[in-house]
Amino acid sequence: MNADLQRLTELEKIDREASRLTEEVAGLPKRVAAIEAKLAEHKAAVEKAKARIKGNETTRRQMEADIKGFQEKIAKYRSQSSSVKTNDEYRALMHEVEFAEKQISGCEDKILDLMIGLENEEKALKVAEAELKTESADVEKEKADARVRTAEDEKLLAGLKEQRETIRSTVNDSALAHYDRVMRQRKSALAEAREQKCMACFVRVRPQTWQEIRTNEQIITCNSCGRILYFDPANEAAAPEPAKKKSKARAAEVETEPDQAEQEITPTQ
Ligand SMILES: [Zn+2]
Repeated sequence: MNADLQRLTELEKIDREASRLTEEVAGLPKRVAAIEAKLAEHKAAVEKAKARIKGNETTRRQMEADIKGFQEKIAKYRSQSSSVKTNDEYRALMHEVEFAEKQISGCEDKILDLMIGLENEEKALKVAEAELKTESADVEKEKADARVRTAEDEKLLAGLKEQRETIRSTVNDSALAHYDRVMRQRKSALAEAREQKCMACFVRVRPQTWQEIRTNEQIITCNSCGRILYFDPANEAAAPEPAKKKSKARAAEVETEPDQAEQEITPTQ
């Protein structure tokens, strides 16, 4: 294989791995932020449960104060009843007593409801607090993992950068400039040529060019996408050309082999 072609193949592998690692490093703070947002939700759930319990207690104290108020009124009406002159006045007072007793009974019913509600609210608080505790531990672990992963990735990236510089210093300048240009535009700079086609853009190469590519002895670029083409004999052996067995009509109808179509359904360009 042509030495520059060999080196560019290695360079592309390094560049791809470096960009994968760079993306991963950039994505980790986002992952941590997402976990922290989830933690904030759990904290909010705990606060909400606490606020419900507090509200319950406030309402209950209010009810108790109301009951006390009505009891005082009843006592007052009863003491007044001993000094009333007419039956009508007496009935009116008894009517007030009855009303106050109904109010007390209503308050007592509400207090009972609040007590039942409080039990459930306390249970909900316990669940929310347990979830928060678990989630907090998870967040700390995830954060620690993210820190470790970032440090590892950065170490790998530093190593790749060194390898990259070493390879680049040995490649012919114009081949390297072409590589950089295509890499920038298309996110990949090399493409395998198989069955007389560029496997990145699927455009056919001329028969003479194909013969040249098969030797891997020159830097040859795809006329359509600009990628540097290389030939891999292993893939030719793995996928023998069955085109001769097919009728012309069928060959015209189906551009790519069915098995090949399955493997190469995502052209990069
Ligand atoms: Zn191409």
